[in-house]
Amino acid sequence: MKIWLDGGLQDMESARVSVFDHGLTVGDGIFETVKAVDGRPFALTRHLDRLTRSARGLGLPDPDHDEVRRACAAVLEANPMPLGRLRITYTGGHGPLGSDRGEHGPTLVVALGATTRRPDSTAVITVPWTRNERGALTGLKTTSYAENVVALARAREQGASEALFGNTVGQLCEGTGSNVFVVLDGEIHTPPLASGCLAGITRALAIEWTGAEETDLPLDVLERADEVFLTSTLRDVQAVHRVDDRGLPGAPGPVTAKAMRIFEDRSGDDLDP
Ligand code: PLP
Repeated sequence: MKIWLDGGLQDMESARVSVFDHGLTVGDGIFETVKAVDGRPFALTRHLDRLTRSARGLGLPDPDHDEVRRACAAVLEANPMPLGRLRITYTGGHGPLGSDRGEHGPTLVVALGATTRRPDSTAVITVPWTRNERGALTGLKTTSYAENVVALARAREQGASEALFGNTVGQLCEGTGSNVFVVLDGEIHTPPLASGCLAGITRALAIEWTGAEETDLPLDVLERADEVFLTSTLRDVQAVHRVDDRGLPGAPGPVTAKAMRIFEDRSGDDLDP
């Protein structure tokens, strides 16, 4: 397996970054996960734009989009697979202990892993921890993902594949790696970005393609929603058949099933050539 590091392809087994890389020591880094179908990245321009927004939010230099595109193309060409997940990681780079930021410029790593299509429906839990809708990192896709790792581990313990967070004012926010949508009286709603959720690329496409509304939703909407679904790069649109102890039999319901079909029909639209 080949990855991109320090401006070129390297063997994954021997590629090394410094143990003083600030991405490792303080989580000063950002990332993107990009789906690749038959070697073609999906929605790469949107991912690169979000990478730049995250970099600016952290005060990192703007990533060079041409270099990241070249890196993705090289890694995809070197590791052919039918369905892959590109992982772009960009950190503050390395520097002496105690330095505010790496002194040798940012680190860029592009790696690729195989993935598979997710089941049509899944179980989720809610967690008692909150997303901070007004934090310095709110809405940025940083490598500081430890809280998501803890929440996801709790979901797995309970036979679920995702954990949903509310925010500090009790509104529904997002999952550890997905955005959440609910269906109420036939209408699709999803929390607004002001809830503190990530501006998911699949979320934006789902809003464009289904006409879903951005609505402030109390967390307990999950107790009465007719249908619930998740969106993410690796799930696309995925129905929810259980939230905590509440079953949603028949998931995907009709509105979710339609959203899944629209997504399936259109998700070739934004594949890179
Ligand atoms: N929310 C969080 C916290 C995420 O990490 C992700 C993706 O990893 C998403 C939402 C979904 O975003 P996207 O559709 O761009 O994959």
